[in-house]
Amino acid sequence: MTKALLLIDIQNGFCPGGNLPVSDGDEVVPVANRLMASGLYDIIVASQDWHPSNHGSFASQHRGKQPFDMGELSGQPQVMWPDHCIQDSVDAEFHPDLATDRIDFVQRKGENPKVDSYSAFRDNDQTALTGLADWLKAKGVTELDVMGLATDYCVKFSALDAVDMLPGVTVHLIADGCRGIDPQGVEEAIEAMRQAGVEIIDSSRIGL
Ligand SMILES: [Zn+2]
Repeated sequence: MTKALLLIDIQNGFCPGGNLPVSDGDEVVPVANRLMASGLYDIIVASQDWHPSNHGSFASQHRGKQPFDMGELSGQPQVMWPDHCIQDSVDAEFHPDLATDRIDFVQRKGENPKVDSYSAFRDNDQTALTGLADWLKAKGVTELDVMGLATDYCVKFSALDAVDMLPGVTVHLIADGCRGIDPQGVEEAIEAMRQAGVEIIDSSRIGL
């Protein structure tokens, strides 16, 4: 058994004080640190939202759009986000309390200005792969635990893609290690993950 932990977007931008803050987003940091220190994982991966300043998911790039409006990007419906996680900015850095020295591999995403990438595995149009699925396969991963920010977007799509792209791998969502943007969206996201075969667990149960 090879067990991997996937930390989704635990960055300043998604924590209080960031440009796209998730309520209590920083509360996932101690959960991540505890799990990384537990010795239960063979591999620890973190994804990092990493946008160019002209990224097409930003409302600022669309005339007349405000953050959180619905808009279009390359012909697809797209939530218009505030400018966030711009490459090399403090907003894009991992939360300062995250024990990044324990991370084996960082998967950046969202670098193509013409398409958003909620998932750590592929762009939202599902054509461009990040390479993370092949990387995990090459490591022989058999179990993948996913947690981070935000439950209803990047965590959800990463977990769904993990089930889809890593056949035979058991995928867990560590629910207490996630925070979301919209409470209703979080409920729907968890249900969608459960339906797809993701096991929803609590960090206190891991390793028991
Ligand atoms: Zn983003």
